[in-house]
Amino acid sequence: MKSTRLQEHEAGESPVTLLGHVINGSEVVNDGAVLPIHNPATGAVIRQVAVADSAIVEQAIASAESAFAAWRDTTPQRRARVLFRFRELLEQHAETLCELVTAEHGKVLNDARGELGRGIEVVEYACGIAELLKGEHLKNAGPRIDSWSEFPPLGVVAGVTPFNFPVMVPMWMYPLALACGNCFILKPSEKDPGVSNYIAGLLSEAGLPDGVFNVVHGDRSTVELLLDHARIRAISFVGSTPVARSIYTRGSAAGKRVQALGGAKNHAVIMPDADVEPAVEALMGAAYGSCGQRCMAVSVVVCVGDEVADRIVELLAEKVRSLRIGPGQDNGNDMGPLISRESVERVRMSVGEAVQQGAELVVDGRDLQVPNHLNGFFIGGSLLDRVTPEMNVYQQEIFGPVLCVVRVTDLDEAIALINDNRFGNGTCLFTRDGEAARYFSDAVQIGMVGVNVALPVPIANHSFGGWKDSLFGDLYAYGPDAIRFYTRRKTVTQRWPSGGLKEGIRYAFPESQG
Ligand code: NAD
Repeated sequence: MKSTRLQEHEAGESPVTLLGHVINGSEVVNDGAVLPIHNPATGAVIRQVAVADSAIVEQAIASAESAFAAWRDTTPQRRARVLFRFRELLEQHAETLCELVTAEHGKVLNDARGELGRGIEVVEYACGIAELLKGEHLKNAGPRIDSWSEFPPLGVVAGVTPFNFPVMVPMWMYPLALACGNCFILKPSEKDPGVSNYIAGLLSEAGLPDGVFNVVHGDRSTVELLLDHARIRAISFVGSTPVARSIYTRGSAAGKRVQALGGAKNHAVIMPDADVEPAVEALMGAAYGSCGQRCMAVSVVVCVGDEVADRIVELLAEKVRSLRIGPGQDNGNDMGPLISRESVERVRMSVGEAVQQGAELVVDGRDLQVPNHLNGFFIGGSLLDRVTPEMNVYQQEIFGPVLCVVRVTDLDEAIALINDNRFGNGTCLFTRDGEAARYFSDAVQIGMVGVNVALPVPIANHSFGGWKDSLFGDLYAYGPDAIRFYTRRKTVTQRWPSGGLKEGIRYAFPESQG
């Protein structure tokens, strides 16, 4: 069944003013709190979103629970067929999906296309679920005894996601959760929730039974209801570090399996032998793409030696000054607005504070005005040189278009700086020296490492996750780790002796008799 929202978009009607939850295949609205959704390019409130209360959360859980047994018992091939159809629908409706993302998030359309593409890769990986769930089998584990491990689903699981990738980050979760046979409740960010309802419509159209995928909207209050609910077996979370830490602690205390991915401070190290111009081009996209609102964004450039630092700063400055900034709908722009007015104020403050603490402001983007969009949440790109580790701008995740240059004397100093940082999501090294690259990737305490790759986001067949304060839990997002996260091991030991089961009583602990 298509959701109301999907039908409306196809009919070209104006969007509803209040976005409801999607439960059991239909949109549901409760009385009570609502939150505004802004168009970040104009600053205007474009619609509102309902906040799920405990009755709505109960309804979503009941709907998922009642769909679970049939979905669990659906063969993996049939579950994969739904995902194949879903994948085709994602391609067919790509433009609408990207427009929805840009309208509520603000990122430029091309960037939204990139995010959708990376999400589709996870769906493609999930389409191989029959292969991925095959389990482990040993014939003759003992005399006429066979044993195997199988991986049944957990039941009802939930995902809580951030604003910065409203399509892709949920896709790190639900395609694999569903493929494994779970029912899913998504709580997307309240800042750009609209596209999740559209996705629910596409899943229904692909043949997913009602109740298998549900969306509840809201803020912290809704998340806490999900977190404390005994009948939700697992929570996948992606967002900021303080929230990730508290989700991990509270969810684990409530007996759930939890994976909680947090914030980041990603360093790019430039060696004196690096090809500087391509490195600068890569850094521009990695630092200023999506207005710096990516958990893998490069926010610190560590230059080894003053010579390479001076050259990098000179080239970066030229490019930062010429960034084209404006509404994401205009494909000519490199960078759209930030997500909110508060983000603009926070970024302005961080840059000002850095200057007070002694950083050199090479490019100041704080007072950018975009013609005809004076109320939009725009800010220009800033570049800070001679940043030192004790400055707040270095210690905190800024999540805006601000790049800090730190100068060091050798690679060991760069590695020590990165390893001392509390975050451990991504890092990269630009060099032509294979030995230095190997040394760096061995020594650095970071989950995702690039060599001459500025955004080393693993493809869907690997898993995604950082170290230290960037991830709480043991299993990463998507890829093989997600199969383990959304299933639990059951090991069956089976004996069919030819002469019957009579063996007499044996009080000694059974040996494998291998
Ligand atoms: P956020 O932590 O404010 O919100 C994330 C989600 O948690 C939202 O759905 C929100 O409604 C909910 N939430 C907010 N406060 C809560 C609370 N106190 N208790 C329970 N739930 C709460 O993050 P954001 O601003 O939406 O997203 C940006 C952050 O996400 C950045 O820190 C970024 O680095 C991080 N992020 C990390 C990754 C990763 O893979 N490590 C990926 C994307 C984004």
